Amino acid sequence: MLSTMMNTPLTITSLMHFAEKVHGASEIVSVTADNPNHSYTYRDAFARVRKLANALKALGAEQGDRIATLAWNDYRHLELYYAISCSGMVCHTINPRLFPEQLEFIVNHADDRWIFLDVAFVPILEKMQELMPKVKGFVILTDEAHMPETGLRNVHCYETLIADKPDTFDWPQLDENTASAMCYTSGTTGNPKGVVYNHRSTILHVYASSLPEAFNLSSRTVVMPIVPMFHVNGWGLVYSAPMVGAKLVMPGPKMGDGEILCNLINEHKVSASAGVPTVWLALLQYLDSSGQRVPSLERLTVGGAACPQMIIEEFAQKHNVEVQQAWGMTEMSPLGTYNQPRPNELDLPADEFMKNRLKQGRPIFGVDMRIEDEDGNELPWDGKSSGAVKVRGPWITESYYGLDNGGADEDGWFETGDVACMTSDGLMQITDRTKDVIKSGGEWISSIDLENCAVNHPAVAEAAVIGAPHPKWTERPLLLAVLKEGESITQEEMLGWFDGKVAKWWIPADCVFVESLPHTATGKISKKDLREDYQDFKWSDV
Ligand code: AMP
Repeated sequence: MLSTMMNTPLTITSLMHFAEKVHGASEIVSVTADNPNHSYTYRDAFARVRKLANALKALGAEQGDRIATLAWNDYRHLELYYAISCSGMVCHTINPRLFPEQLEFIVNHADDRWIFLDVAFVPILEKMQELMPKVKGFVILTDEAHMPETGLRNVHCYETLIADKPDTFDWPQLDENTASAMCYTSGTTGNPKGVVYNHRSTILHVYASSLPEAFNLSSRTVVMPIVPMFHVNGWGLVYSAPMVGAKLVMPGPKMGDGEILCNLINEHKVSASAGVPTVWLALLQYLDSSGQRVPSLERLTVGGAACPQMIIEEFAQKHNVEVQQAWGMTEMSPLGTYNQPRPNELDLPADEFMKNRLKQGRPIFGVDMRIEDEDGNELPWDGKSSGAVKVRGPWITESYYGLDNGGADEDGWFETGDVACMTSDGLMQITDRTKDVIKSGGEWISSIDLENCAVNHPAVAEAAVIGAPHPKWTERPLLLAVLKEGESITQEEMLGWFDGKVAKWWIPADCVFVESLPHTATGKISKKDLREDYQDFKWSDV
C-alpha cells in the first residue's frame, strides 16, 4: 500500500527559502581579508545569493558544471555554497593548503569550469593557470578597492560581478539526488579522491547532525565554525545554522589566531564552535597568556583527530567550557558519531567520566555501523573487541568520483580505514588506523610519498614513515630509516633531502636510524608495530 504523503524533494534550495523566510533576521558576521568586521543578515545573504546566481548564468555556467572555491570561512564563501548548489551546479571546495601538484590534479580531475578564490591564493593560481586549460576564468572574492594586480586570465572581481545583477532569480526545480557539492580527500593512498554530495544527503545530514545528541543547534546558538568550509562543507554547519536560525560567526583567514578567536567569541557571544584539536590549543595558549576569559562559550566540538585529554580538562576547569568529541570523514558528509554525555555518565567517578569523554562518541541515527575482524566477521560491541569500522547510510559515499575502485563493498558497507571498539551502548573508541596516511593539524600527509622520497636517497636501504603523537599537531610524520651497509649520514642531511621535494609541512619532523624494520607475514612493513613502538616518541622540537 502506498502512503498518502507528499514526495517533496529534499533540496538545499528549500532550506535556503526556509531560512530566508523564517530566520531572515539572524546574523552572519565575518572576518575577511578586506573587512575585519562584516555583518549582515540571512535575508541580506540570500538576496546576494540570487545576484550571484544571475552572475553565474551570465558567465555561461550551466547545470552540472563544477564551480571551484579556494576560500576561507566567510560570507562570500557561504553565498557561493548556496548560489552554486541551488543553480544545479556543483560547489567544489578545494583545500588551498594542498601543494601545487595536488591542486592541479584536483581541478583537472573534477573538470572545474570557474574558480572563485580569495586574494591570498592569487599567486598560487597565477603560477598554475596554464596547467588548468579547461578552467574558463577566475573570480577574486573581494571588492574593486582591494583587487590585486594579477596575470590571471579572464579574471573578475566578485563584488563588481554581482553588483549590477538583479536580486531575483528563477531557481530550477531540482531532483533531490542532483549533485550539490564535491570535496577531494587525501586521506587515502594514491591521488586525492573526490566525494560528491547531493541535495538529499546534505539535508538528511543537516537534520541528524543538528540534533541535541549531536551539535545541538538552535536559534539560541551562536556558532563559530572554525573547521574550514573546504573540509567536508565545514562539517555541515553552513547548512545547519540557517536551518535553525543560529547566528554564524565566520573567522575568515584568522582561524588559527587565538587572540582574534577570543575577541570574536566575546564580541559576538559565541556559544558553540567546532574545529580540529590544534586550533583549540592555539586558543588555550592565548587565554593562558592573556588572562582573557570566554564566558559566553558553552561547548566546543573537536573532531578530525583524537582529542587530547589536556584540551578537555583545561577548557572544563579553567573556562567552564565542555569539549565534545565527534568522528566522521569526508566520505561521510562528515558526521558519524558524536559524544554527548548521557545522564547516567554524569554520576561516574571523574576518571571514568574522562575515559568516556576521550572516546569518539555514539553513532547518530542514519549511520549504520559495524566492526569486523580481519576475516570480515562482525565483532561484538563489548568494549574490548577491536576491528575495522564499516559504515553505511544516506550521507555516506558509495563510490569515488570517476573511479571504479574504492567505495562501498557489495553489501553497501564503506570501510573507513579506522579501527575501533564499541561498548554495548554504542560508544566508539578509535584504537588504530589501517589506512597508511598521517593526519597533522587536521591535514593529511601521505606516508607513502615520504617513504618513496626517502628511499631515493642513495644512502637509504629501507624507510618507513609513521604518524607519531605530537602535542601540538596531534601527529607528525616520523621517519625511520635503515641505511645501506657502510653508509652514514646525519639526521639533518636525511631531513634536508626532503627540501623542495615535498610541501614544507610534510617534511618528517624527526628521523631515527634503525638496524631493521618489522615486517608482516606478507613482507610489508608493519606500521602497526612501529606505531606502538614509537607512541611515546620524544620530539626534538618539543
Ligand atoms: P577527513 O576525511 O579528512 O575528515 O578525515 C577523516 C579521518 O580523520 C577519519 O577516518 C579518522 O581517521 C580521523 N578522525 C576524524 N575524527 C576523529 C576523531 N575524533 N578521533 C580520531 N580520529 C578522527
